Amino acid sequence: MTLPRQRIAILGGGPGGYEAALVAAQLGADVTVVDSDGLGGACVLTDCVPSKSLIETSNAMNLLNRSIDLGIATGGLATVNAARLYERITDLARAQSADIAARINAEGIKVIKSHGKLSGPGTVTTETGETIKADAILIATGAMPRTIPGAEPDGERILTWRQLYDLTEVPRDLIVVGSGVTGAEFACAYQALGSRVTLISSRDRVLPQEDEDAANLIEDVFKRSGMHVLGHSRAQSVSTSQNGVTVTLTDGQTIRGSHCLMTVGMIPRTGSIGCDEHGVKTDKNGFIEVDRVSRTSVPGVYAAGDCTGKLMLASVAAMQGRIAMWHTLGEAVHPIRLGHVAATIFTNPEIATVGVSQRAVDAGEVTARTLKQPLGTNPRAKMAGFRDGFVKLFTSPGTGVILGGVVVAPRASELILAVSVALEQRLTAEDLAQTFAVYPSLSGSVTEAARKLMEFTPDTL
Ligand SMILES: Cc1cc2nc3c(=O)[nH]c(=O)nc-3n(C[C@H](O)[C@H](O)[C@H](O)COP(=O)(O)OP(=O)(O)OC[C@H]3O[C@@H](n4cnc5c(N)ncnc54)[C@H](O)[C@@H]3O)c2cc1C
Repeated sequence: MTLPRQRIAILGGGPGGYEAALVAAQLGADVTVVDSDGLGGACVLTDCVPSKSLIETSNAMNLLNRSIDLGIATGGLATVNAARLYERITDLARAQSADIAARINAEGIKVIKSHGKLSGPGTVTTETGETIKADAILIATGAMPRTIPGAEPDGERILTWRQLYDLTEVPRDLIVVGSGVTGAEFACAYQALGSRVTLISSRDRVLPQEDEDAANLIEDVFKRSGMHVLGHSRAQSVSTSQNGVTVTLTDGQTIRGSHCLMTVGMIPRTGSIGCDEHGVKTDKNGFIEVDRVSRTSVPGVYAAGDCTGKLMLASVAAMQGRIAMWHTLGEAVHPIRLGHVAATIFTNPEIATVGVSQRAVDAGEVTARTLKQPLGTNPRAKMAGFRDGFVKLFTSPGTGVILGGVVVAPRASELILAVSVALEQRLTAEDLAQTFAVYPSLSGSVTEAARKLMEFTPDTL
């Protein structure tokens, strides 16, 4: 006797939704995705993919700006062709969304372009008038930029990051409000692209949630590049005139610029999807509460991605979505391990982290040996003219097992993989130290840090 196919309904076609849909289809389920704005979600269309594409151009500008030091005569100052820059970014995002749509289509997954919501046990309805009956529902509706009263984006002078790509120019004087990951990435990118950037941080330093050594290094790099970094400053309001913006701080100080980019956090898109009516618990900020296998408070309803407010990363959204499908379709499943997530801040240099943090070590929550190996002594870094960066490793004092690390370097997002593998596989500093790294290479600093950790006895640390 063949069992009936499980029916899965997914609200949202970002990484949380579409990766889950692919897993469910491969496991033989009958899958419907309801998505309002385009497959790939905000990740592909407005957030991660466009910002990383912009940053690739800013990296090229950084290289051009260093070309004289590298022995290249460019014959003039490189400038940005804004129309081409933004066109390239939006084309890339659309192409990535189309690739995902083609894959989803090839797997036989039904896609409904509409807003959807929960409307009863095992039921989703769409604004286009369709009703989908499902054995399990996954909510993956993502999040959207938070705005503050008195500084509402107008899409022309006061902008969210989603509106940047509609500009026709590179802002002359860009004020970035918020110095978290998004603010720091855009401030860094636009400074390289030729904007005069002022970064407004409400805390004493940029990237207040990140490794302090890494954040201090980045702030120093920002300042050396000519960026104006204002610490302990909170924007109260932003007003526009014909030619620019004025940001008023809570202490009464005003800052003028041509454009203002607001990066003050995200709010979940859970307000009008029937969570309250159908018993799906949310926290005080509206994020859906889930356990480590993505279950919500309602049996048969799962949630994944930014709408759960866990680590707001595409990789985490995708994994939560896959786990939900493995769980509901009866596959063996490991609960998500957020402590093993590798993440990168795409400044220049990049900051990549995995595993335990310096903050947890300093607070006594984790006992670890720490070793910080500056990049300045790395031969490959010298050849390329990089001097800012380091590799930091944390190991267990008793066993030498790698507990985590921080890499600050160009392409740290690639270099962190060695530390991630070590963490996941419970390798020791000795295992890493005995691993061949290419000579010369930046990854040589990872194995060198591991070797230095082995030199220490507990008494010397
Ligand atoms: C500027 C920026 C840069 C980033 N860079 C990175 C990065 O480098 N690496 C990384 O890992 N992460 C990055 N992120 C985070 C990443 O973009 C998110 O974690 C990811 O998009 C979350 O995926 P998701 O599926 O939860 O939501 P989304 O990608 O937001 O997708 C949700 C989808 O659901 C749809 N939807 C919403 N409501 C409904 C409804 N009622 N009915 C139907 N459809 C609906 C939306 O239209 C959207 O298509 C970045 C974020 C920002 C803001």
